[in-house]
Amino acid sequence: MNIVAIDIGGTEIKYGSVTGGGEVKFSSSLATEASKGVEQLLDKIYSIVEKLKDEKTLGIAVSATGQIDGLAGKVVGGTNLIPGWIGTDLVKILEEKYSLPAVLENDVNCAALGEMWMGAAKNRKNFLCLTIGTGIGGGIVLDGKLLRGESSVAAEFGHIQIVKNGEKCGCGSTGCYQSYASTTALLKLAERKLGKKLNGKEIFDEVHKNNLEYKKVLDEWADYFTDGLATLIYIFNPSLIVIGGGVSKQGSFLKNIFQKSLETKVMKNYLDILEMKMAERGNDAGMLGASYLLLEKMKKS
Ligand SMILES: [Zn+2]
Repeated sequence: MNIVAIDIGGTEIKYGSVTGGGEVKFSSSLATEASKGVEQLLDKIYSIVEKLKDEKTLGIAVSATGQIDGLAGKVVGGTNLIPGWIGTDLVKILEEKYSLPAVLENDVNCAALGEMWMGAAKNRKNFLCLTIGTGIGGGIVLDGKLLRGESSVAAEFGHIQIVKNGEKCGCGSTGCYQSYASTTALLKLAERKLGKKLNGKEIFDEVHKNNLEYKKVLDEWADYFTDGLATLIYIFNPSLIVIGGGVSKQGSFLKNIFQKSLETKVMKNYLDILEMKMAERGNDAGMLGASYLLLEKMKKS
């Protein structure tokens, strides 16, 4: 028994075969080529399904970028990164084409569920997942279930305003959380303060060498990150915060910086029951979370 799992990102499509017990048996990837539009993307999805499906396949589980109505299995909003993607009724298309059950859910929600099923949030019922990358994505799990909101686009943490009259954001507003606390924001801050273009690894390498100028930049960025996080902690009173995205590779080093910064902003009784963990399932979390949702859907029907 296997699930065909597909995780569609802006630059890369990860795909694989996941067992009903949460094991990733095989995985690979190909380029999204987002600018070529939705028809090309659908063809890629079909070729993946046809490559991986056999008579024992339980269904098709898709995690994807953008604003997704996970209950309807439809793309409902987001940026126009993949022309034609918004409005795509993917679950309907896949279920009709292959006569197999399918699910579609937002990638950060899937990452949260993947970590709950087989990773850092195992056995946790109330936690938040934040992914730090080009933006900041969010997932909220309350009582073991995703909090989707009225139209399934809850947890867009990246667009919470944290700076008044701040930087312009693609969403049309200014001062958004992700403009200050994403990886993109860290690189911009470093360029402004240090006068050179650097990648994330170069910044962290210098901080590890005790380069104080770089440490100051990292601390300023972390301070923005915990500004937003403090608000989320007061709203949700979580027992766990899972941090995903490329920077999670920095492990406890970065976690300690965030935790120290939080101590100055959040009351002790909120922090006493709160654990912060870096994501454990990396590239597999999206596929695992989508597979988890597929199994849940099959249980219900
Ligand atoms: Zn915004």
